[in-house]
Amino acid sequence: MSEFHIYNSYTRQKERFESITPGHAGLYVCGPTVSGESHMGHARPYITFDVVQRYLRHLGYKVRYVRNITDAGHFEEEGREAQDKVSEKARLEKLEPMEMVHKYTSMFHHGMRLFNCDEPSIEPTATGHIVEQIGMIEDIIAKGYAYEVNGSVYFDVKKYADNYPYGKLSGRVLEDQLETTRELDGQDEKRNKADFALWKNAPPEHIMRWKSPWGEGFPGWHIECSAMSSKYLGETFDIHGGGMDLQFPHHESEIAQSTISHGHAPVRYWMHNNMITINGKKMGKSYNNVIKLSELFSGGHPLLAQAYHPMVVRFYILQTHYRSTLDFSNEALQAAERAFRRLWEAYEVLQKLQHPGNNEAANAGLHQQVLEQCGQCSEYMNDDLNTAKVIANLFDLSSTINGMKGGQVAANAIGADAFDTLKSTFRTYLEDILGMQALQVQQSNKLDEVLALLIEIRKDAKKRKDFATSDQIRNRLAEAGIQLKDEKDGSVSYSIE
Ligand SMILES: [Zn+2]
Repeated sequence: MSEFHIYNSYTRQKERFESITPGHAGLYVCGPTVSGESHMGHARPYITFDVVQRYLRHLGYKVRYVRNITDAGHFEEEGREAQDKVSEKARLEKLEPMEMVHKYTSMFHHGMRLFNCDEPSIEPTATGHIVEQIGMIEDIIAKGYAYEVNGSVYFDVKKYADNYPYGKLSGRVLEDQLETTRELDGQDEKRNKADFALWKNAPPEHIMRWKSPWGEGFPGWHIECSAMSSKYLGETFDIHGGGMDLQFPHHESEIAQSTISHGHAPVRYWMHNNMITINGKKMGKSYNNVIKLSELFSGGHPLLAQAYHPMVVRFYILQTHYRSTLDFSNEALQAAERAFRRLWEAYEVLQKLQHPGNNEAANAGLHQQVLEQCGQCSEYMNDDLNTAKVIANLFDLSSTINGMKGGQVAANAIGADAFDTLKSTFRTYLEDILGMQALQVQQSNKLDEVLALLIEIRKDAKKRKDFATSDQIRNRLAEAGIQLKDEKDGSVSYSIE
């Protein structure tokens, strides 16, 4: 494809990307909830949409990439109004909510830097946009699509569904939801079970609370993304991204809120990445297979045979098309590590290779093939961001590079133009667009490896009941500003101050 096409989850088809403002592209991606450390499942959307924004820049767009931080209470699971996650966890850890928000935000940023994800242009926080959220809720009430009960405000989903295509994105039917939504907190206040909270009245013990026209409370989860995306990208913007698990209820609710407030749908292209499974299983607390990023980098989880370099994880994720499922296993990651080392070595060889400068190719077939395979990289990216096929092509090309180094391929086999194209293709696709870096670039990974070793020694010491050694390791690391934390599942995580 000669122009950028993306699969629009809303229309369920590939569409040519055309930005609203020529030369500019707006991208909104739902960011982390900073009530805990990010885990492996979070790596996929942030790496995927990092490549989306890199590719848009490569195509010449000036990109505004907005990724929020959810630092106020939100309602997790489908239809379930959970406790305010942020203040709940804070009480358990005996931290001020904002202290915890700061800690996990820093850890998230650290993880993103290790993955070589570019920083977003704007990273708005939910707590920094309470005024905008209240304004939007007032607007929705004024338009007759939300109602207040006992200091909480709910969105009237049934009324919306009577007038708008509710459920189109997620493929859900309102009737199903009315049947299946469980009886939970706040249900007695709602007109219909499917209604969701825009604002929740705060019980006395709730720490994070703000004044509102409906009394003291806190915003619902969905409203922050509607308020912040329209503030920074406009009432209609180009691309909204996130994991497939966010389609319902989060993105469906975002569409409903914005449609009522602005009178039209908010997003042109919805992009959703598929999920990560671990050894064929869905990731979840009940499976004891939630692997945090720090555990992934240090190997400090019982399911991990070793530490994995962030670049290996990034490469592994990009080796599969973002809309396919992806299974994490030690074997698959080890294979990705070997593959990435081979590919990067070929890239380093290519940078040192000298071409004799001949314009005429001694091997016209190979010359043509190199040009074709290089050209295909943009076609693959244009075809809904097929990073998997780009990597496969770079592998094919690396055998030519290795042949040139080893002498099996004559130095003059391809012409100077094909050689230059080969060089620029590797630099552009491998480094600029896929965002890969040499494994040795990341000093902090060396630290991760050292920590992994110390954690292992400490574990062995504890097994032998040599608590003097295990305490010494923990205390000395704490003095150096590195906190080890023993998790219930037997794994050890750490944070660096
Ligand atoms: Zn969101």
